[in-house]
Amino acid sequence: MLDQDAQEFRRHIARWVDERLVPQAESLDRKGEFPHELFHELASLGYLGALYPESIGGSGLANPYTCFAVLCEELSRGSMGFAAGVCMQGSTATYTLYEWGDKALHERFLLPALRGERIGAFAITEPNSGSDAASLRTRATNVEGGYVINGSKIFTTHGTVADFITVVATTDPARGLKGLELFVVDTKTKGFSVGRKLDKFTIHCSDTAELVFDNVFVPEECRLGDGEGGGFLNAYKSLTVDRVFTAALAVGNGQAAYDAALRYAKERVQFGQPIGKFQAVQFKLVDMLAVLEQARLYTYYVAGRADRGEPITTEAALAKLVAADGCNDVCQKALNIFGGYGLMNEYPMQRFLRDSYFPIIGGGTSDIMRLIVARQLGL
Ligand SMILES: Cc1cc2nc3c(=O)[nH]c(=O)nc-3n(C[C@H](O)[C@H](O)[C@H](O)COP(=O)(O)OP(=O)(O)OC[C@H]3O[C@@H](n4cnc5c(N)ncnc54)[C@H](O)[C@@H]3O)c2cc1C
Repeated sequence: MLDQDAQEFRRHIARWVDERLVPQAESLDRKGEFPHELFHELASLGYLGALYPESIGGSGLANPYTCFAVLCEELSRGSMGFAAGVCMQGSTATYTLYEWGDKALHERFLLPALRGERIGAFAITEPNSGSDAASLRTRATNVEGGYVINGSKIFTTHGTVADFITVVATTDPARGLKGLELFVVDTKTKGFSVGRKLDKFTIHCSDTAELVFDNVFVPEECRLGDGEGGGFLNAYKSLTVDRVFTAALAVGNGQAAYDAALRYAKERVQFGQPIGKFQAVQFKLVDMLAVLEQARLYTYYVAGRADRGEPITTEAALAKLVAADGCNDVCQKALNIFGGYGLMNEYPMQRFLRDSYFPIIGGGTSDIMRLIVARQLGL
């Protein structure tokens, strides 16, 4: 399924995950803080630029979408919280800058982000606007030399640690989606503040926050896109790409849960034999493997399409839907195989299950994926 280069890429990152991330995953989850040290360690190995060409400071890989999906999957096998942060940095927060930023913006934000020196975020969701992006209220008012942004954002990954944030704001609420534009905001700008850090059920070591924009001035050159009404469409493309990587996050976490459950089924003895000898446990494990294999194959099929420049709107939504819902089910079955130990915090099973809910919601809910596909089918 993966070519030689991608397999080699997987071997390298898998080794780092096993040696560095897996041993720390539990404590990262318990602390619930952004793991600066580990993040910089991964950055120093060059992985944050895996999606981009060498000309803009990236790794220049032959199949960048496939390799970035491999990176997301492998990291998520260790810790989905950590992986979600890398996915934000290496894709969501930087993709629109890569596509639409000029040389000056690349040098100021993109290159330092790919080196791990500046942390990026992407903020579209608001307290009253999630799935329905057209209803967002954060307002960008045109003034001399740029725009002034007012409003608030919620659920922003890297919200408390970001050095810059790509923000979606409306220049004209009456124009709905066409009025939405993208702005890169330096978080040192006057008027920007973190409303609060959010405490959450899932991916504990991924930082999540509510943000406040109170008369934040953004110079004209920090507006991304090629004209009025283009901004959201740019964001939309980056969100589409991200669905493939979120599917990979789901698969990696599901794989970790499956591996742990398979090991446990061979070790745990009840009624005089390993529980894996009971057909009910065997069937669960086989069903889990079937879902994982399908989700992984389809995710890499879509990543391959992206590498070849083929359309992925339908396929990326399907990949996220199949992987997110399927791997949540894998984690539920895995927890079941662990019995009471599955519910104990000293075992990772509860973390795998908690984290498996993130891909179902983050980047658009599973029902919104169904909606996207239904629209593509002309329904
Ligand atoms: C951990 C985490 C990290 C996140 N990181 C970011 C980030 O970095 N940046 C960012 O901008 N956002 C981020 N999000 C926000 C995420 O993208 C939204 O939560 C998601 O898009 C859903 O929006 P909502 O929560 O407002 O739910 P709502 O849109 O209010 O949806 C609630 C329910 O209604 C359903 N629903 C809504 N509309 C329809 C419809 N038309 N048809 C059928 N069902 C519908 C949904 O499927 C869902 O079940 C993050 C979320 C989480 C949980």
